[in-house]
Formats: sequence, C-alpha cells, structure tokens
Amino acid sequence: MTAPVPKPWIMEIAPYVPGRSTTDDGRKVTKLSSNENPLGTSQKAREAFLTAATSLERYPDASAVELRETIAAKYGLDPARIIYGNGSDEVLHLAAGAFAGPGDEIIYVHYGFTVYPIATRRVGAIPVVAPDKDYATDVDAILASVTDKTKVVFVANPNNPTGTYAPRSEILRLHAGLPSSVLLVLDHAYAEYIEGDDDDGGMELARSAPNVLVTRTFSKMYGLAAERIGWGYASAPIIEAMHRIRLPFSITIAGTAAAVAALGDTEFVDHTKAHNAQWRRWFSDEIAKLGNKGLRAVPSQANFVLVLFEGQLTAEAAYKGLMEDGYIVRWLPGQGLPHGLRITIGTEDETRGVMASLRKMAGED
Ligand code: PMP
Repeated sequence: MTAPVPKPWIMEIAPYVPGRSTTDDGRKVTKLSSNENPLGTSQKAREAFLTAATSLERYPDASAVELRETIAAKYGLDPARIIYGNGSDEVLHLAAGAFAGPGDEIIYVHYGFTVYPIATRRVGAIPVVAPDKDYATDVDAILASVTDKTKVVFVANPNNPTGTYAPRSEILRLHAGLPSSVLLVLDHAYAEYIEGDDDDGGMELARSAPNVLVTRTFSKMYGLAAERIGWGYASAPIIEAMHRIRLPFSITIAGTAAAVAALGDTEFVDHTKAHNAQWRRWFSDEIAKLGNKGLRAVPSQANFVLVLFEGQLTAEAAYKGLMEDGYIVRWLPGQGLPHGLRITIGTEDETRGVMASLRKMAGED
C-alpha cells in the first residue's frame, strides 16, 4: 500500500515557528517576541467583544458588511474593494493563491516576513529573494529580480524582522518600475507606527492603480492579535479574484465587533503610537551606547527593533541571558540572522528591564 504523497513544493516549506511565551523549562516570562501591543487592547474593543459573544450557534456575516463599511469610512475607501481574512496572513495567502501557481515567481526581500515563503511554496510558485541594502528594502534589487515569470511582489513596509521603512518616493518608484501584470502587495501590518504618517503612498496607489494590494491588520496597533482580523484594499478585479478562494467564515462575530469598536477608539491608538515612538527611540539610543561592545540597532519605524550583535556578546548568548532574566525575544537564525534579535517594544518597565539585562551581559555595568 502506498501512502498519500504530499506535493514536493509543500515539503520544501519550513514550518512557521511562532513566538514563545515560556522557557525551555516551562517558566512563564514576558513575551516580547511577537510584536503584540504591550498596552493591551482598547477598553471599547473589549466591551464590544464581550457584548457580541452571544448567539454562538450563528454563522458570522460572510460578507462582513459592518467591518468593511467602518474601515471604508475611516480611510475614505470603497467598501466593495475591501477584502478581509483570518489575520492579514490569510489575505497574503489569498494574494499568492489567486495570482500565482506552479512555475510562477514571487519576489520578496532577503530579510522578509516568514509567511511570504510559505504562501509562495503553498501554491507551487518559486520564491525569488532580492538582496537587501544594509538590512533595508532595496528597490533596485527587487526590480532587477523581475522576469517574465514574476506574478507577485511582497513588500512589508515597515519590514519585519528588520523594522526598516522604505519612503513613499521609493514605493512609488518600485511601482513605476514593475510591469502592470505584476501584483504589488504592500504589507502595512506596522504602518500605524510610522512616525509622522501611516501610509507610504501604498493606499494612494491601491486607490488608483489596478495592480496594488495594501494589507492591514488589527493584530498590532489595535491590540487584537487573538481575534485574527486583517484586511486588504485593491482594484475591484483583484478583490473579486481573491474572494473566489476565500474561506467563507474566516472572521468571527465577536472579533469583528471588537475590530469595529477599535477603529473608533483613536485615543487608544494615539496613546499606543506615542508610547511606542518614545520607547523605540529610547531603546535604540541605549543600544547605540553599546556600539563599542558590537551592538547595533537597525533604524526602526515599527513596534520592534532588530538588534545586531557584532562583537563578543553573541545574539544566541544574549537570547539565552534575556530568557534567564525573564524576557523572551526573537532570535532569528532561521531567517539568515543568527547575529540578530528582534525585540518588541514593551511597557516602560519591560523595555528598561531588557536594556538592563543587555547592558549587564555586554559588561557595561
Ligand atoms: N505582515 C507582517 C509583516 C507581520 O509581521 C505580521 C505579523 N507577524 C503579519 C503580516 C500578519 O499579522 P496578522 O495575521 O496577525 O494580521
């Protein structure tokens, strides 16, 4: 008897490794490994969630009218051109699934988000990795990677795990240089954290260009990672194609209610944004003071900072030491960054605590 054989491209997928919240010996520690909101969730969103968590026997509204209309009103969009999914992860998978297949190519940057290779391989497409420029997105390298097989380009802006931000002019230049047959996916999971703005020009492009999809999430700034709600905006034909393969009920009633309420709580969002900007700056400045010990913070516009260890203290030793001191961060050997730790900006106490631990390990005090 022969067993069912998985498709060969599926077996090339390195399984997703989520951020951990316990140590190897099961101790609970502070989790700064998944870029969640350290300030929690908007109280208004929490109340809306609890109120909506009734009628558990009913299916959610498959066309998510209230969610789409609330998003559309906030951003000045056409609700018919909004897609939604089980986190923006699902929306990214829908983009690859609707526009690429076996033999096609999908481009993303060297230090890119781990879902891109999975979404690419899942549909049998070929990953094409564009080199970075000192950890930042290099538009010229992406454009140089385009062939007549390219179907999709994924760009996270700010990028994960580097936190780097490609300015509006670079995004517009990328779009202008791509063939119009290529779908440009601008992943805005961290856009709300960009200093001074929350758009790199992507939404502007998605409104007018036929080949741009912008994705957004409620998991980060809005503090609703548990509820798995993401969305995307693109031209009508792109959205229509993605809807064909979408799971009909991938977002929940209570999660949707929380997301709708969260969009209205600008006070919570403003507070989170200010907190993150303050402590991201403080943390990056403190890391810079350890430059003589080989530590370096990659400039970030997200809610995390990539710290590079280029001296005696290695990222692996720092990862283990932080765990001993009660903090789990993300060590990235699987993403070509064995010398890097991605550290989520926490509360003031957490951020100061991580810094004190790093300073101690670097031999600074
Ligand atoms: N894009 C990027 C760049 C991310 O870092 C994440 C979260 N890790 C996501 C998308 C997906 O987030 P979610 O599925 O929770 O919306």
